[in-house]
Amino acid sequence: MRVFKFGGASVKDAEAVRNVARVLQHEGIDNTLVVISAMGKMTNAFERLIAAYLEKSDDFDAAYGHIEQFHLQMLEELFATDTHEVYASVNQLLGRLNGFMSTNTESNYNYVYDQMVGYGELLSTTIVSAYLADIGIHNQWLDVRTCIQTDANFRDAKVDWKATERAIQETVKSDQLYITQGFIGSSDVETTTSLGREGSDYTAGIFAYCLNAKSVTIWKDVEGVLNADPRVFTETQLLKNISYAEAVEMAFYGASVIHPKTIQPLEKKDIPLYVRSFDDLTKMGTKVSKGVELDPLVACFIVKKNQTLISIAAKDFSFMVEDNISHVFKKLHDYKLKVNLIQNSALSFSVCVEDKFNTFEDFSKELEASYAIKSYKEVTLYTIRHFNDTAINDIKARGRAIIRQINTETAQLVIQEKVQSS
Ligand code: ADP
Ligand code: ASP
Ligand code: MG
Repeated sequence: MRVFKFGGASVKDAEAVRNVARVLQHEGIDNTLVVISAMGKMTNAFERLIAAYLEKSDDFDAAYGHIEQFHLQMLEELFATDTHEVYASVNQLLGRLNGFMSTNTESNYNYVYDQMVGYGELLSTTIVSAYLADIGIHNQWLDVRTCIQTDANFRDAKVDWKATERAIQETVKSDQLYITQGFIGSSDVETTTSLGREGSDYTAGIFAYCLNAKSVTIWKDVEGVLNADPRVFTETQLLKNISYAEAVEMAFYGASVIHPKTIQPLEKKDIPLYVRSFDDLTKMGTKVSKGVELDPLVACFIVKKNQTLISIAAKDFSFMVEDNISHVFKKLHDYKLKVNLIQNSALSFSVCVEDKFNTFEDFSKELEASYAIKSYKEVTLYTIRHFNDTAINDIKARGRAIIRQINTETAQLVIQEKVQSS
């Protein structure tokens, strides 16, 4: 089987959904499982809805109205009549979402988030599946929560591989076209979980692993994996061949083009990953596979904005060594702060972290009791794989370098960016 993944941009409006059909017609529809994300920026819209719901804020009606309107408009543009049965399916999903909101008594953000956010994917796949059927592409809609089994670590759920493999192999038959959701799973029949933002790539990797798939293709609005984020760099180059190891390094340092966990299951079974343009089907894009040389061998830039750099030193001027560093690490772990760079000297220990769960202030307060702390907010971490002098100088020109760390293949710079004068 082949696994395809279409992200939010691939289904951002009616035209894009029609294009998904064109891609499937061009590539063939047999033995294919298609993973689809929420449409456009709907996951962000759901995040706003969840916040408004939990805070009982005045923004609630606007947030809900936006989501409802977006999907209803999509139906209007894709289907000839409003008597089409897809309207009932969409209304049923919206009804369930409303049902959850009116009966739920839990206030735990992560739990509530996971019960609500996945409606973006459920709505999106319901609409795409119905549209494909409508134009004669027979397909099977699959509720991914019957397949991807996880623990109950909401918003960052861990996959139970054994249970997931069993469920997928029992459910998915190779000769059909399946349409299913990315990003979500379940910890029991009644509880939805999610795999972390941008998790649909990972879903594709999980299916491919469990199905011993021939390949995974991620369809994008870019030609493939580029050597830098085109939204941040004006000149970029297509990477035609990348090894799994290189892709893991890039994802590890924060390349957002492939979700970090996606590669591992593919590497284990030697399943190639293609990243291709959904606009230009003549292009082969990027192939990620085993042991190949990076081609072309150019400097690759990875940018992580909104980082916090924190420098930690012992108050009594003693060395930062094993015992206090391990204490700091334990706290980083307890506060779920993601560490993207580490640098230590005799007297201080610096880490660049991402405050994904809004816990930095509490972490910092707790550590202040034992250490002298200095922090820099809203810095940018630039990582350059296969760096050269020109590449480093380009980055240095972007602001003040607070930290520079270089090893054989990778240079990292923490930059306080120049404020753009208007
Ligand atoms: P999806 O719709 O699959 O979720 P994303 O928006 O997450 O797509 O990813 C596609 C976008 O990622 C591209 O439009 C591009 O702007 C951005 N991007 C960032 N870094 C890279 C990179 N190294 N190569 C290609 N695209 C990148
Ligand atoms: N829809 C989810 C998100 O935007 C998952 C994904 O698209 O990969 O994060
Ligand atoms: Mg994405």
